[in-house]
Amino acid sequence: MTDLADEVGAVRSQATNYDNSVVYDTNGTVLNSDSEEEMYGLFEQLAAIVENNAERHQTLAEAIQASNLWHSLNSRQQQQVLHLINTTIEHEFSGSYRELSAYNLDDAEAYNGGDVIFPNGYGQLTDFLASGLDIRLNQIVQKISHSSEGVIVRSNQGEFSADRVVITLPIGVLKSGQVSFEPPLPQTKQQAISAIGSGLLNKLFLRFPYPFWDTDTEIINWISQEHGRWNEWLNVAFYIDKPVLLGFNAADYAIKTEGWSDEEIIEDAMAVLRTIYGRNIPQPESWQLTRWNRDPYALGAYSFNGISDGIPASIRSRQALAQPINQRLFFAGEATSEDFPATVHGAYISGLIAAEQISDL
Ligand SMILES: Cc1cc2nc3c(=O)[nH]c(=O)nc-3n(C[C@H](O)[C@H](O)[C@H](O)COP(=O)(O)OP(=O)(O)OC[C@H]3O[C@@H](n4cnc5c(N)ncnc54)[C@H](O)[C@@H]3O)c2cc1C
Repeated sequence: MTDLADEVGAVRSQATNYDNSVVYDTNGTVLNSDSEEEMYGLFEQLAAIVENNAERHQTLAEAIQASNLWHSLNSRQQQQVLHLINTTIEHEFSGSYRELSAYNLDDAEAYNGGDVIFPNGYGQLTDFLASGLDIRLNQIVQKISHSSEGVIVRSNQGEFSADRVVITLPIGVLKSGQVSFEPPLPQTKQQAISAIGSGLLNKLFLRFPYPFWDTDTEIINWISQEHGRWNEWLNVAFYIDKPVLLGFNAADYAIKTEGWSDEEIIEDAMAVLRTIYGRNIPQPESWQLTRWNRDPYALGAYSFNGISDGIPASIRSRQALAQPINQRLFFAGEATSEDFPATVHGAYISGLIAAEQISDL
């Protein structure tokens, strides 16, 4: 993506420094450094116990419940540890700790280097990749049939025939069965589709008339009473010099709030910001928010290692999902990526692999 960004000449922000952060307690006061240290210490101890003892069939919540350490914590310590489970695990993997595999939480690789924002939008990269291609929009694929003759793709607007197709449907759409396959997908692929989870991470951007927060701090954490409620904010002003805050909700709390109106979601977020910054902060001038579970062409944010019939998703599930069928159907998209699932680069590289598989034929 870095090479591509260079080629396009996409302007980049400075890399996020995740240590440049502040933690606010539930009542809005800054958590003192001893408490913060204790919170991270307990989280790390618990993470090590789970990593060493998790059984194949266990979700993260089950593995935590099975540990003696968890039961020795008082309710305040449990709340603090749950805060870190939300911000460092659920926000990263998009699944609820009640669904994520404890045994196989993370088998992905990572590149070195920091995370940057494209102040002028990620669309620059996709526009560049799309230029010169014959792309038909508003074609909702409903059925994909293949035989020794070739492939027929039926959409809401008609039929297309091809020698081979590359399918990059999101994992949520594959799970929903909205697109049917003739003949049906093989058992191994169906098992992979069930074990790989479709998670949720939603964003709420709030633009204010002026910043009322410390614009030198990048990450703003808040320890909520209710699990996962607006636990993490990004100070966007740090990167683009505009008075914008970005609030995240993942997994359970994101699912709960998706059904609310924009106004209700914003009021809930503002109640949290007022707890931290006081009653006199201004209302936002404008906002943008996502509801990925309710987007029929996403049905989730990105994939995670879940569990199906007691078996955790793994690299093998990603391989099964990526496996071509009869040299006719080829599969790409982030969920098929062995090394980099849940990322843009994973999705991109998986497309290059599918293209290579076809050109090799
Ligand atoms: C909140 C959030 C934050 C993220 N942060 C990062 C990050 O910091 N770094 C990172 O690398 N990645 C991040 N990701 C993940 C990254 O965005 C995805 O992994 C990547 O975009 C997936 O690309 P894809 O091509 O596999 O799927 P998509 O981009 O979802 O493409 C699938 C396409 O299929 C289309 N489609 C669906 N159903 C049909 C149908 N029936 N007929 C026709 N077309 C259909 C959809 O419209 C869509 O265009 C984040 C994702 C989210 C949601």
